[in-house]
Amino acid sequence: MADRITILGATGSIGQSTADVLRGHRERFSVAAVVGGRDAQALAAMAIDLRAEFAALSDSSKLPALREALAGTGIASGAGAAAVREAVDREADLVVGAISGVAGLAPTRDALKPGRKLALANKESLVSAGSAFMREAARQGTTILPMDSEHNALAQALTAGHPDDVDSLTLTASGGPFRTWTAEAMRDATPAHTAKHPTYSMGAKINVDSASLMNKGLELIEAHHLFGMSPERLEVVVHPQSIIHGLVHWRDGAVTAGMAHPDMRVPIAHCLGVDRRLATKVPRLDLAAIGGFTFEVPDSDRFPCLRLARQALAAGGALPTVLNGANEIAVEAFLAGRVGFMDIPRIVEAACDWAAGTSYAAPATVEEALALDGEARAVASRALDGAGGHPPAPERPAD
Ligand code: NAD
Ligand code: MG
Repeated sequence: MADRITILGATGSIGQSTADVLRGHRERFSVAAVVGGRDAQALAAMAIDLRAEFAALSDSSKLPALREALAGTGIASGAGAAAVREAVDREADLVVGAISGVAGLAPTRDALKPGRKLALANKESLVSAGSAFMREAARQGTTILPMDSEHNALAQALTAGHPDDVDSLTLTASGGPFRTWTAEAMRDATPAHTAKHPTYSMGAKINVDSASLMNKGLELIEAHHLFGMSPERLEVVVHPQSIIHGLVHWRDGAVTAGMAHPDMRVPIAHCLGVDRRLATKVPRLDLAAIGGFTFEVPDSDRFPCLRLARQALAAGGALPTVLNGANEIAVEAFLAGRVGFMDIPRIVEAACDWAAGTSYAAPATVEEALALDGEARAVASRALDGAGGHPPAPERPAD
C-alpha cells in the first residue's frame, strides 16, 4: 500500500478520478503534492479537499490566483518549472503521472526516484522517449505501474502465468465516437463530435486521439515498452462495450482477460492499492445486464492513424517520437479549428516521411527525445499550411 501520494496533472480527468478514489480512503493516504497546469481554482480546491502539503501550477502567471485561493489554509504553493520540480522532489511513495502530452515527459521523468512507484497514465512519455524512459526508471529503481486501462488490465492478467509463456497481447479499443461513421462524414468532424466518447469521459487531447484511433496506436507503442513485447505480438481488436480491456494469450491456448466497467477509477485504484485491492464506488459488473460482447477488426483505411502508429512501432528509431510530436501539433490545430479531422493523419504522415529520410536514431535520453520532438513539431507545423479548417458541421449522432 502506497501512503504518500503526489498527483501530476491533478486538475485533469485522471487527476480528478484519482482524487475521487483517494477520498474514499482518507485514513490510508496522505497527499504530498498536487500539480496542475493553469487552473488555480481547481487545483486549490483539490489541495484543500485532499489536505495536500504543496500545490504547484506549471503556469507561473497563475501564482497570485493560487496563493489567494489557498490563503489561510497552511498549504504551501508555487508556480513555474521550479515549483513543479519542488513538488516532484517532495518525498512520496507513489506519483501519479497524469499530465497530458509530451508536456508531461520531463516532470514524469523527474518523478523517477529510488524505491518509488510511478503510476503512469501519461502514455506520451513512453511513446516519445520509450527506451530512454524505461532505462531511467530501471536505473533509478522506480517501479512503473500501468494506469492506462488496457495496460493495467494486461498487467493484472499477466499475473496468471509465467512471462516466458506469453504468446501475445491484445488491447481492446472502443472504436471511439466515429466507429460507424463513413470516411466522408469524418472529414467534417468537429472537436464537439470527438468529445462524445461512447464509453469514457476524458481530456480534450485523448478524446481526439480516441476518435482517430491514434490513441490505440500510441497504446501499442506504450505496451511494447511496458511489457517488452515485440510489435508482431501486439494486437488490437475493437470491442464497443469496453468491458474487456486487455487479453493475454498464453502458449497453451488459454486466454486471460482483464475486465471492468469502463471507469478509470478501477485502474487508478489498482495502482494506488499496490498489493491490496481498494474498494471503489464502481458498481459490480453485471454481465447479464450488458447482454453481449462484440468484436471487430479495426479499419485502418478509415483510421489511418492506427496504421501510421503501427508502422512507427515496427520501424522504431526516431519514428515513434516524431509520430507523437506531429500528432500533438495536428490535434492542437484541429481543436483550434485550424485543420480538419482527416488532416491529422496527413500531417502525422508528412512528419513520419520526413523522419524516415533522416538518419535520426531512437533517442538515447529524455533530452534527446525532447529535442527530436521539437523538430517533429516544426515539421508538422509546416504541414499545417494549406489545410483548411473544418466547416461548421451539422451535429451528428456519435454512434
Ligand atoms: P486532461 O487534459 O484532462 O488533464 C491534463 C492535466 O495535465 C491537467 O491537470 C492539466 O492542467 C495538466 N497539465 C497540462 N500541461 C501541463 C504542464 N505543462 N505541466 C503540468 N501540468 C500540466 O487529460 P487526461 O484525460 O486526464 O489525460 C492525462 C493523461 O492520461 C494523458 O496522457 C492521457 O493519454 C492519459 N490517459 C487518460 C485517460 C482518461 O480516461 N482520461 C485514460 C488513459 C490514459
Ligand atoms: Mg487506454
